Amino acid sequence: MSSKVVITDMIIIGAGPVGLFAVFEAGLLGLKCHLVDNLDRPGGQCIELYPEKPIYDIPSRPTVTGKQLIDDLMAQASPFEPAFHLSQQASSLDRQPNGNWRLTTSRGLLLEAPIIVVAAGAGSFVPKKPPYKKRDEFEEKSIDYAVYRMEKYRDKKLVIVGGGDSALDWAISLSPLAQSLTLVHRREEFRGTYDTVQQVLKLQDAGKLNVLYGNITDLVGKDGQLSHVQVTTLKGEELKVECDYLMPFMGLKVSLGPITEWGLNLDKRHVNVDQASFVTTAEGIYAIGDVCTYPGKIKLILTGFYEAAVMVRSAFKYAFPDRKMAGGYTTTNSVFQERLGIADK
Ligand SMILES: Cc1cc2nc3c(=O)[nH]c(=O)nc-3n(C[C@H](O)[C@H](O)[C@H](O)COP(=O)(O)OP(=O)(O)OC[C@H]3O[C@@H](n4cnc5c(N)ncnc54)[C@H](O)[C@@H]3O)c2cc1C
Repeated sequence: MSSKVVITDMIIIGAGPVGLFAVFEAGLLGLKCHLVDNLDRPGGQCIELYPEKPIYDIPSRPTVTGKQLIDDLMAQASPFEPAFHLSQQASSLDRQPNGNWRLTTSRGLLLEAPIIVVAAGAGSFVPKKPPYKKRDEFEEKSIDYAVYRMEKYRDKKLVIVGGGDSALDWAISLSPLAQSLTLVHRREEFRGTYDTVQQVLKLQDAGKLNVLYGNITDLVGKDGQLSHVQVTTLKGEELKVECDYLMPFMGLKVSLGPITEWGLNLDKRHVNVDQASFVTTAEGIYAIGDVCTYPGKIKLILTGFYEAAVMVRSAFKYAFPDRKMAGGYTTTNSVFQERLGIADK
C-alpha cells in the first residue's frame, strides 16, 4: 500500500519559536510551509518548559511570557496558513531523483519539498516519567507533566514530585492558587538554586505548602481521576495524601534522535551550518535556531529569528532560481502586503 505524498515548498522540522518565525519569513517570499513536531502543540521550549515565565530580551517586548510569544508568532504566521503535523517525529529523509527531499514521520506521513529546515532546538524532548505501576490508568485525567494554564489548578489538591528548579518553581507559583500543595522529593537535598529552595522552605514554615521526603508508592482513584496518592517517607511512614492532580516534574529527556543519522556534519548535538546561508553540508537542508552552530553562535530566540530571515532568502534562491524574489520592507513592499492580506488597509 503506498501512502500519498504531500508536496510543498519548505518542510520545517520543529515548531518552536524559530520554526514558527521561519514560516512568516518564508510566507513573505511566497513559500508554503509544512511543520512537523513531535510535541502535541507548537511552541517548543517556550511552551514546554516556561509558558508562564516572562522573557525580557525579545526586541521591542519589554516583557512577554513564553505562551504570549508563541501565540503572537502563530498569529503572525497565520496569513500564510502553515500546515502542522504534530505528535510525530521526523524519522527519515531521502533524496528523490528530482532533487527534492522526502521526509517520513513516525506516523508514516510522507512530505516532499526542495527545502528542509531543521529547527529542532535541543531535539525531541519528552518528560521523564516516574515508574508508578498504575501510571497509565491516571495519565490522561490526573497526571500533568507541564503547566499549560495555571487557572486549571485553582482550588485543587496538588502533589508535585521532584527536587529540581522546575518542581520548586511550580510549587512556589501554584501554592497561592491551590487548595493544598504537597511537594514530594526522594531526598532531603534539593537540586534547585539556593534562593528557590529557601523560598519553598519559607512557604512550608508558613503552612502554605507541605514538603515530604520520600517516594510515591501507590496511586488511588476511580475512572482515571486520582483521589489520593500514597507516600512512603524516608522514615518509613505510610501517608495518604489527597490529590486531584499529580505533577511529576522530574526533568526532560532530550535527544536529536533520527536527525543524527541524516549524514549532516554534527558537532556534538548541533548541526554545523554556513553562517551566510544556514545551509548544512547537504544541499537543500538548512538548520536554524538552537540546533545549529557556527563560530560565535548565541543560543537565543532573537538569534534564531535573524537566522530564519537569512535562511529563507538563501533557500529561495537555491530552490527557485528562476523565480523573482520579493525584497525590501514590509512597510513599503506591496507584494509583501498582499501576501499578508493587508494590501488595501
Ligand atoms: C527555562 C528557559 C528559559 C529561557 N529563557 C530565554 C530567554 O529569556 N530568552 C531567550 O532568548 N531564550 C531563552 N531560552 C532559550 C529559548 O527557549 C531557545 O533559544 C528557543 O526555544 C530555541 O528555539 P528553537 O525553535 O530553535 O527550538 P525549540 O524551542 O527547542 O523547539 C524545537 C522543536 O523541535 C521539535 N523537534 C526536535 N526534533 C524533532 C524531530 N526529530 N521531529 C519532530 N520534532 C522535533 C521539538 O519537539 C521542539 O518543539 C530559555 C530556555 C529555557 C529552557
